This record gives sequence, C-alpha cells and structure tokens, in this order.
Amino acid sequence: MNSNHHLDLLRAAHFAARKHCDQRRKGEEASPYINHPIAVAETLARVGQIDDLPVLQAALLHDTVEDTDTTESELIEHFGEEVASLVLEVTDNKSLEKYERKQHQVDHAPFLTPRAKALKMADKINNISDIMRAPPAGWDVQRRAEYLDWAERVVSGCRDANAHLARAFDEALAEARSNIVDLNNYSNSRP
Ligand code: ZN
Repeated sequence: MNSNHHLDLLRAAHFAARKHCDQRRKGEEASPYINHPIAVAETLARVGQIDDLPVLQAALLHDTVEDTDTTESELIEHFGEEVASLVLEVTDNKSLEKYERKQHQVDHAPFLTPRAKALKMADKINNISDIMRAPPAGWDVQRRAEYLDWAERVVSGCRDANAHLARAFDEALAEARSNIVDLNNYSNSRP
C-alpha cells in the first residue's frame, strides 16, 4: 500500500470510531463496538490476504449505516461510490422483521459481489468467535447453536469468493460446535 492508501484506510477507521463511539458490543464483555469492524478488516487482510483498499475501508465502515446515523450519501462524500456500495451490500434491510432479515441474508448471499462475500465471511468468522468467547446476555447454548447454523447458511453462498476465508470459517464453526457439545455434556452430567 502506498502512503495515500494508508491515509484512506486510517480515515475510514477514524470515521467508524467516531460513529460507533458510544456503542458497545452485545456480548457480556460489552467491548467497544469499534473493536468489531477493526477485527473484520484485520481478518480480511491477514486471513483473506486481501490487499484491496475499498474492501478494507468497507470492512471498517460495514456497520455504520446499519447501526449508526450514517447515510449512504455521507459515505459517498467521504469515501466514494465504490466503498459506499460495498457497505450497502452488507447492510441489512431494517424495514424487514428480524426473522425475514435473517432469511434475506441467506437468500441474498449468492448474489453479492465477490468483495462483499469476502467481507460477509470475515464478519461471520468474528461474530462466531465473539459469541463463543462472550455470548450476549440470555444467549443459551441452543441460541448459540442456532446462530452457528444460520451463519453457515449465509456463508455457504459466499464461499466461492475467497478460499482462505472459507477455510477459516469452517475452522471457527467446527471449534464453536465442539465447544457447544462440551457445554451440553457438562450440563447433562450435572445432577
Ligand atoms: Zn459486523
């Protein structure tokens, strides 16, 4: 990356940090929200071996439209059409009910552009590891298992975009599932 690219990447990180500044993740650690988009961008670069500035910027910005007051035109103004359209590709349609929204992600995944598919996979890899490490309050083992099944269905439509990320997703999923089996065995073994 040349130095302009570094600046553009840092601008995206700074913008996202400001937009998410008073938000926390749902997990029991309630970590600062910005940790998540930074982890997704890092996964794309390290695991996915992606050196594509608009994708890395979109990863940093991927939840700004869904979860903050950020608008499409604001993203276009600051980061251009390409980044804005990648963010919108991975933004849930909030006019849908929660169940429909989740089904829509599954149905829509095969039609995403390859860059948005890679972003989606990196997002799910990080969500799975967050949920297993620090599940949101009230998420029992069953709820976590359902999340894993849903994430697997979404990612099955995205796998063709990046073999490294697809493999890393499989590993995260297998580890999470074996964890859940252990948790179930533990609770079943108790009187
Ligand atoms: Zn996300």
